[in-house]
Amino acid sequence: MLSLFTAVMVSSWLYEGRIQSLIEELLITNGNKMIQTYQSTPSAELIPFMQNVSGISHTLLQLYNKEGKPLLDEKGWPIQVDPNDMRRVLAGEKVRHFDKVDLAHFHIPQPPSVGLPLQADGQPYALFVTVKENPIENETMNAIHVTYIIILFFGSLLILVAARYIVNPIVRLTEATRRMAKGTFDFELPTKRKDEIGLLTVSFNEMAKELSKLDRMRQDFVSNVSHEIQSPLTSISGFSKALQQKKMSEESRLHYLTIIEKESERLSRLSQNLLRLSYLQQEHHPLKVNTYRLDEQLRRVVIALEPQWAAKEIEIDVQLEAMTVQADEDQLNQVWTNLLSNSIKFTPAHGKIVIEAVRKDNQNIISITDNGIGIPEEERADIFKPFHKVDKARDPSVKGNGLGLSIVKKIVDIHKGHIQVSGRLGTGSTFEVTLPQ
Ligand code: ADP
Repeated sequence: MLSLFTAVMVSSWLYEGRIQSLIEELLITNGNKMIQTYQSTPSAELIPFMQNVSGISHTLLQLYNKEGKPLLDEKGWPIQVDPNDMRRVLAGEKVRHFDKVDLAHFHIPQPPSVGLPLQADGQPYALFVTVKENPIENETMNAIHVTYIIILFFGSLLILVAARYIVNPIVRLTEATRRMAKGTFDFELPTKRKDEIGLLTVSFNEMAKELSKLDRMRQDFVSNVSHEIQSPLTSISGFSKALQQKKMSEESRLHYLTIIEKESERLSRLSQNLLRLSYLQQEHHPLKVNTYRLDEQLRRVVIALEPQWAAKEIEIDVQLEAMTVQADEDQLNQVWTNLLSNSIKFTPAHGKIVIEAVRKDNQNIISITDNGIGIPEEERADIFKPFHKVDKARDPSVKGNGLGLSIVKKIVDIHKGHIQVSGRLGTGSTFEVTLPQ
């Protein structure tokens, strides 16, 4: 309705002036032509002449004498001449009368008219010319009105249908957001649409899936942390109670105290690793990047872990090309320490670990290969997830908290590197880290 109303207003504003001047010109030309014809016909009598020519070419005439009295047949004369206009025409002036459409006051306009002065037999007359009702114009107007009504009707109908088509999925999306706010994520909104609303629904479904995954991860994380804290605490409290017994050999007391110390260290390691992981998971953590010799760093890590590999009499084979990297030295130190201690942990006594570092296609490739127990193929994707341990019953003496490799992966990712694991179960594993030079 608003657009129709605007269209009518704008088009009438644009064309009103032109139509007015066109009609006025036509009326003046026709009126003048009739006056000229009358004047050039010497035998013609004014009133019958004008009566005869009125109605020709859609032009109606009325002639007024100097008293303002109409002299022609008034039947079908559609306008009321303003006495003021009449006076001016009788005084010899040309007058144009064009009513504006006044919607505010429901004013039905008179047809346009012009008043032309005329002298006959020494007497002044006023000839008023107006347009005769035109059936073609009337029909055209009717057709325009019907067009408006049809546009209004079908336009409204289509807008209603379109609104339903757009609004319905949005209502469903709104309901789904409310459900999400309450913590329900396991739903999927059906859609076959390919337009923007369809895309929005698809992205919404993806978001719900991701949030549901995240929620599950959060729950798993909490239960894993609780579990990891619970078992050392249980043994600490159990052994502390045992220590309270008076009758106990010095040897047993020492044994219990060693266990308590080990479990406390395990708890402390867990909290350190958790803190490290949460720090690495922050979006903006400062990287202290500097350029240094990676091969030397690897050698230092091997030396630092000597007590562990020497205790198991593991042979370490180091084949390192000289190479420099731009990286956070402390963090990469953590990567090599975690990987090498895992290899030592999961390699039996008298085993062998090979540490290689080569440069290839602008990349530094560092691999740590052991001939230990290996990792089953189906577990390889999961070992980088926090708290994931392959087969928890493997070797109870090998105690870890399952956070080491997630820290490694996070640090490698931050350095825009890549880590992969290969090898075969029972024959050992190879961890290969690729870092940009
Ligand atoms: P953890 O503290 O338990 O070692 P990690 O995140 O470092 O935790 O490792 C996750 C799991 O991956 C380990 O529990 C172990 O089962 C497996 N794993 C890691 N490194 C090796 C390796 N070199 N050989 C065999 N298994 C490994």
